[in-house]
Amino acid sequence: MSIISKQERLVAINPTRSCAPIGAMLSTFGVHGALTINHGSQGCATYPRHQMARHFREPIEVATSSLTEKTTVYGGKENLLAAIKNVYERFKPTMITICSTCLSETIGDDVPAIIEEFQKHYPDVAIPILSVRTPSYIGTHITGFDNFLTEVANQLPIRQPKKKDAPTNGKVNLIPGWVNPGDIRELRAMLAEMDVEATLITDFSETLDGGYYHPRPRFPRGGTTVEELRDSSNAMATIALQQNIGGTAAGVYKRRHNVPAHVLPMPVGLANTDTFIETLTAITGKPMPISLELERARLLDAIVDTHMFNTGKRAAVYGDPDMVYGLVRLLAEMGIQPAFALTAHDSKKWAEDMLALANEIGVEVEIMYRSDLHELHKRIRAAPVDIVLGHSKGKFISDAEEVPLVRVGFPIEDRVGYHRRTIVGYRGAISLVDEITNAILSNKMVVSSTVMERTMMGPTSIPLEIEELSPRVAAAG
Ligand code: SF4
Repeated sequence: MSIISKQERLVAINPTRSCAPIGAMLSTFGVHGALTINHGSQGCATYPRHQMARHFREPIEVATSSLTEKTTVYGGKENLLAAIKNVYERFKPTMITICSTCLSETIGDDVPAIIEEFQKHYPDVAIPILSVRTPSYIGTHITGFDNFLTEVANQLPIRQPKKKDAPTNGKVNLIPGWVNPGDIRELRAMLAEMDVEATLITDFSETLDGGYYHPRPRFPRGGTTVEELRDSSNAMATIALQQNIGGTAAGVYKRRHNVPAHVLPMPVGLANTDTFIETLTAITGKPMPISLELERARLLDAIVDTHMFNTGKRAAVYGDPDMVYGLVRLLAEMGIQPAFALTAHDSKKWAEDMLALANEIGVEVEIMYRSDLHELHKRIRAAPVDIVLGHSKGKFISDAEEVPLVRVGFPIEDRVGYHRRTIVGYRGAISLVDEITNAILSNKMVVSSTVMERTMMGPTSIPLEIEELSPRVAAAG
């Protein structure tokens, strides 16, 4: 029977989460020419910048209001006013996002009032300036990202009372959520195959995975424009591809602009991708093209081809809630038992959704929310798994338990290129099936096409040539 557990310890040990402003910063990178000002101490900008730079391997430009001891006592208004003025005059951005931090929230700075004061003094600055609340003590990077999208949906789209059957702009608003540039490119490719036009809210596929250009453009190429975001109130529908990131914004589009909302599971795996395609068809009337049908068939074939290696294996998955949800379904589709599913996000609803999923697909999983890698490691020690899926922070579990780690999610900082890969859609699922299976195979010895479990080999049964080929296995024996 599946169970839900919530970690009650107040201190996180080896957390899987990042701090809240980083979510708003990431999504701001998806708006062409937009810049973030982090209203806090310099470290609150430096930490997310380093983490993003190590994952995306791109320069990460984020401004800071640079609060100090003095401003912590007397308030950071003057610093923030100066920061907005400097950023505007120096960079002429198309939009500014101001993220609060633990510090500015604790001292109680009223950021919307400071923005109002700035706009009163500088009426010529006609760009949107958004205030996003991102104190890390009330959420994670997921909360920061979601709050940013809600602010975009509230502030940017043109407000015009629309009748139910008024003409639309013929586009779908697509909110990908926390994914990689490679995932966004895959989603765009699927939309192109379906002949569906979309406004991505937002699109950091080029801005955070750009090319080398000389001279370097003032802002990275790509990103959704502010004009496109303003026009998003005229869309046919909004699709949020993550429940925890963008679901609220999709609701705002429905409530304020009469744009129908579809909040779907992240399209990881066969069934979730089917749901995405079926939703696109329901909205636009356009059927699944043959090219996607062929990809779907290839995914099924990949699952069938690998079932003998995967069936009955046990996995542990951790990371962002929607990604974990998608991966658990994919693992079940592959015949793998998802033994542990963990997120740092404090969402009972996620845990209940996971429980419903586990019951639907018939797997027994411990669903751990508001939890950390210390807890996961304890569980894995007590009940070993064959494979771990998650970001780089789980490497120490993988090393200590000699279990392969399939890297997915954010941050991947001990490998390169993962931001360019995709895990969404049929193609993303195929590469995951391959990678997961290969990781499971890497923990075995292949002798004359016969796969033999490492644990089944006694010390005297290891032939010399195998010992030479695989020193780790020899040591284990
Ligand atoms: S103080 Fe808060 S906002 Fe700043 S880096 Fe730390 S967790 Fe993030």
